Amino acid sequence: MKELDYQVPDIKKGYANQTLYVNLSDNRIEIKPVDDKMKETFTGGKGFDLWLMWNGLPKDRIVKWDDPENEICIATGPLGGVTQYPGAGKSIVTSISPMTGIPIDSNVGGYAGPNLKFSGFDAMEIQGKAKRDVYIFIDGDHGKIEIHNAGDLPDTAYEITRVLTDRHTEKEGKDMAVVTAGPAAEHAWMGCLNFSWWDMRRNLPRYKQAGRGGIGTVFRNKKIKAIIMKKEKITLEMNGPADIEAVKAVGRDHSGGILKLDPKQNRMRVIGTGHLPSIMDEFDLLPTRNFRTGSDPEAKNLFGDVWEKIFTNAGKGWDGCWRPCAINCSHCIEGFVPKTGPFKGKNVVVDGPEYETIAGCGSNIAVFDPHYVAELNFYCDAYGIDTISFGTTMGFVMELFEEGHIDEKATGGHKLKWGSAEETLAVLHEMAEGKGFGGEHFGKGTHYLKSYFGDKFGVNKQVMQDIGMEHKGLEYSEYVTKESLAQQGGYGLTLKGPQHDEAWLIFLDQVHNYMPTFEDKAEALHYFPNWRTWFGLNGLCKLPWNDVVPADNSDTDEPAKVPGHVAFYARFFEAMTGRSTKGDDLIAMSEKVYNFQRIFNIRQGKGLRINDSYIPYRSAGPVTDWEYESRADRYNEQLKEIGVDISGMNTTEKNKKLREYREERYRLLADAAYKRRGWTRNGVPTMDKVKKLGLDWIPEVVDIVKKHEGSDPPKDTLPTSDEAWK
Ligand code: SF4
Repeated sequence: MKELDYQVPDIKKGYANQTLYVNLSDNRIEIKPVDDKMKETFTGGKGFDLWLMWNGLPKDRIVKWDDPENEICIATGPLGGVTQYPGAGKSIVTSISPMTGIPIDSNVGGYAGPNLKFSGFDAMEIQGKAKRDVYIFIDGDHGKIEIHNAGDLPDTAYEITRVLTDRHTEKEGKDMAVVTAGPAAEHAWMGCLNFSWWDMRRNLPRYKQAGRGGIGTVFRNKKIKAIIMKKEKITLEMNGPADIEAVKAVGRDHSGGILKLDPKQNRMRVIGTGHLPSIMDEFDLLPTRNFRTGSDPEAKNLFGDVWEKIFTNAGKGWDGCWRPCAINCSHCIEGFVPKTGPFKGKNVVVDGPEYETIAGCGSNIAVFDPHYVAELNFYCDAYGIDTISFGTTMGFVMELFEEGHIDEKATGGHKLKWGSAEETLAVLHEMAEGKGFGGEHFGKGTHYLKSYFGDKFGVNKQVMQDIGMEHKGLEYSEYVTKESLAQQGGYGLTLKGPQHDEAWLIFLDQVHNYMPTFEDKAEALHYFPNWRTWFGLNGLCKLPWNDVVPADNSDTDEPAKVPGHVAFYARFFEAMTGRSTKGDDLIAMSEKVYNFQRIFNIRQGKGLRINDSYIPYRSAGPVTDWEYESRADRYNEQLKEIGVDISGMNTTEKNKKLREYREERYRLLADAAYKRRGWTRNGVPTMDKVKKLGLDWIPEVVDIVKKHEGSDPPKDTLPTSDEAWK
């Protein structure tokens, strides 16, 4: 339908120094330069994506997710595509989210980001809407961008990936990356993207998901069936490192430690993040039955030893979603035979499941049969649905159903009781067809369903507010946070909603007790979201940072930060870019982008204290008397510690007191975390902060911050989720 020939540039010190713009409304393809100011301020990856969106979206109004002007941006970063470093193959995707109405970003494996960079682009920016289904082909081997009619492609991501990989491969190497959504992403708001890589040993394409926030929904709304990034051969030299030997040396050091220590630590090479369910269950952190409790006797059916037997060739080192990744944690199930849906009775490959899927589509909905967890995983991916939003929303609906708040009239005839795996799959198949309860309602997520059930079926809104596990419109990822104040902030005081990408503090806080004081927790809510942002700026995976740690890590001053690995990353950045770099410099890079994203949220009409204030009470404490009684010793003890005389109090009274205490602590935590971040009590970065970060060269940033200077402190009561996130 349209093509552009271009000269593929040399990459210098990790940068192609240009980005790609495609407008699908008029088939415009342009190449834009990247200047030093952009690199200095935004580093790359997610920083570049957000800057492109900031400039590309209309500035005079709030942009909706389905406006043609909304963009999808995809980037890697200056360290992305380094074949000598573990986890250096990530892509970062951004868009205005259908779930939250603000920028969402998702960090995903596969070869797309590196192939895009080696095709000559640090990032790509897609705007507009096509009139009919298209796919975009970025051919970095021949210097061609093409927009194709996609009318002949199948619907599922599983099939599209295979068809396009075969169609556009010239050689055996198949270093092809295909980005797809799927048919359910057309109807649901929780659509995900699949990013593929070529599994050389199995001789088939595999994929990982950019799951959170509905970017797959935006993708299909733009009528994109797929994007292909093709580059047949990638070498370290192609990244143009400032010091190639230093890159090799630090890559060897980091990979060598992982290879030696992983067998003694989490055995990621064998079971990946599947090692987590047993640990989470042991520490009462595994969501079961809509986050009511953190453990269950049946959860053992979903533990790592079970997945070790189910994963194909686990432990052989075949499973890196980036070529040389020493962790090799992206396991799969070959020869899987679904029991339902369009692939019923056929042999397929399931990519995963990983921890979040095991918990979300397993324990959280009381499905403890690993077959059904794998089948939900397979269909969510193939249909383009985020397994976390799906599992968390299903847990919410099941609890309402089990407790008699709704019946089959509200669920389109589905008996959604705990553990009803086939009914759950039936809802998922409806999402793909765009019909029934699944296609018309469920796929819009928990925040939408609260209004739907409340308005149409008279369900008590306070009950739904307390147990519906969403914040800012996004569903919680899979950790029970009742006993970790730091992680309550880690979910609630985020830029984009409750996900584990931005702040994963629960184990550090609740199990290791690394942040005992209020100030420690506020410090962690400054440091860790910024540190974790840094991986998204550079095209890196976070797992090699802290899923395998140096043998002497616990003897260091700050073991939670894994200082040995932070030092590796500073060496790596310096060796690639030639910029002299220490550990603290990495945080300084992230802070610019983190604060910029907060200001972007404000530009989109959100990003203030009120939007962070509400968290569903179940994430902070026991909602029902049953929950209180199930952990009565713990809660009674806590009430005594804060000086409450519980003699003569019934469970309801004790639960009320506990709630008052915990909600007040969350409010105080927000004050402390904002202060540490350099924000006002209303959650806005101060002008002083903006100047220190060097963001004051952007006039609209200054305008937005000035407009909110001196804004009144918010009222001291918790708003409802509707008030907080209209
Ligand atoms: S650690 Fe796992 S998820 Fe991360 S790049 Fe390596 S294989 Fe992929």
